[in-house]
Amino acid sequence: MKLETLQDLLVHELKDLYSAENQLVKALPKMAAAATNEDLRAGFEEHLEETKNHVTRLEEIAEILGCKLTGHRCKAMEGLIEEGSELISEDAEDVVRDAALIGAAQRVEHYEIAGYGTARALAECLGYGDTVRILTETLDEERATDEKLTELAETTINVEAAELVDVE
Ligand code: FE
Ligand code: FE
Repeated sequence: MKLETLQDLLVHELKDLYSAENQLVKALPKMAAAATNEDLRAGFEEHLEETKNHVTRLEEIAEILGCKLTGHRCKAMEGLIEEGSELISEDAEDVVRDAALIGAAQRVEHYEIAGYGTARALAECLGYGDTVRILTETLDEERATDEKLTELAETTINVEAAELVDVE
């Protein structure tokens, strides 16, 4: 695709996010199934519902801007999900696998936060108020998810994992 204008770049960023979110809708159930800690599993399930909403919001924006979001594959999300699934297929103690899942999930959230932050900045610059508002809703949810993961790691999962003793 040709990037002649800032609007073209915004559409490109939105397509990338659309692909990323759709890939995540498929990955989150697997992450939930791999989690042992109840709160972590519930967190993934909750974020799955939010993620379906993120897809819908991007479709709303596409309607407003009169553009198509299909036909692009986000390779970064593909890689992040692949790394995560490699990690969770390792032979691991349950709580250590949970800690690994948090790390994988936070990589995903940070990628999305960067993408939505960029898209929102472009939309702001272009004066697209409705798009800014919609992107902000999603960005806030991605940030909240990231913070919840940090809290779960720091208060519970990492603490429990640290109590494991190496029996070698
Ligand atoms: Fe999302
Ligand atoms: Fe991407």
